[in-house]
Amino acid sequence: MLKENLTYVEKEITEACKRSGRSREEVTLISVSKTKPVGMLEEAYGLGVRVFGENKVQELSQKYDALPKDIEWHMIGHLQRNKIKYIIGKAALIHSVDSLRLAEAIEKEAAKQNLTADILIEVNVAGEESKFGLKPDEVFDFALKVSEFSHIRVKGLMTIAPFVENPEDNRAVFAHLKKLSVDITRKSAHNINMSVLSMGMTNDYRVAIEEGATMVRIGTGIFGERSYAQTNAG
Ligand SMILES: *Cc1c(COP(=O)(O)O)cnc(C)c1O
Repeated sequence: MLKENLTYVEKEITEACKRSGRSREEVTLISVSKTKPVGMLEEAYGLGVRVFGENKVQELSQKYDALPKDIEWHMIGHLQRNKIKYIIGKAALIHSVDSLRLAEAIEKEAAKQNLTADILIEVNVAGEESKFGLKPDEVFDFALKVSEFSHIRVKGLMTIAPFVENPEDNRAVFAHLKKLSVDITRKSAHNINMSVLSMGMTNDYRVAIEEGATMVRIGTGIFGERSYAQTNAG
C-alpha cells in the first residue's frame, strides 16, 4: 500500500508542477509519519523516502534515534519552549515558529549547541481561532526581529490551511501566503530569506503547489489514516 501511495502522490505532485509551469525539483515532499510505528517508516525508507515530518518532540526524537542518519526530520507541530533542547540538532527544519519567546528559546539552545537552527514562520492566514500562527500583518516585523538572531536562519513561511471539503476553497489561502512571502522579500530588499513555502496537506497539496508551495506535508495520503487511540498523540 505504501508503495502505491507514494507512486500516486509522486505522480500528482509532478502533474501539479507541470500544470503550473514549475519544475518537480522545486517541491519537496515531506512524508508526515506522526503516530505511525517505526517499522512503517523503515518500509518507507526502503522505498527511498528520506524526508519525514513529525509533530511531537518526543516522537521525532525517538524515531530519529531508531532510524538511519541520512533522514531529514521536519518538526511541523506546535512547540513548547521547554522541549526545544530535545530537537535542536535533530530537526532539519522547524516549521512552527510563531512567537518571539519561542524564537528566543531556539536561539539560546542553538547557541549552546553551537549550531544554527533553520526555521519557518507559521502564519494563521485564514484567522482561525483554533490554529497557531501569526497574523499575516505581524509577519514582517517578526521576521525582521528573528533575522537578528545569530543562531537562527529564517527560511520562509508555513501555514496550515483550514479543513475543507473542496481543496479549491483553500486556493486563496495559499495565494495569500505566497503573496506575503513575495512582499516580505521585496520590503526587506531581499535580506530576509523567503525561499520556502510549506503549505498543502493530503487534501489540498495539488492546489498548494499550483499556488507556489515548495514543501508539501503529506500524511494520510502516504501512510493511511491515523489511529490516535494507541499513541495518544494528536
Ligand atoms: C498531520 C499534519 C499534516 C499531514 O496531514 P494529512 O492531512 O494527513 O496529510 C501536515 N501538516 C501538519 C502541520 C500536520 O500536523
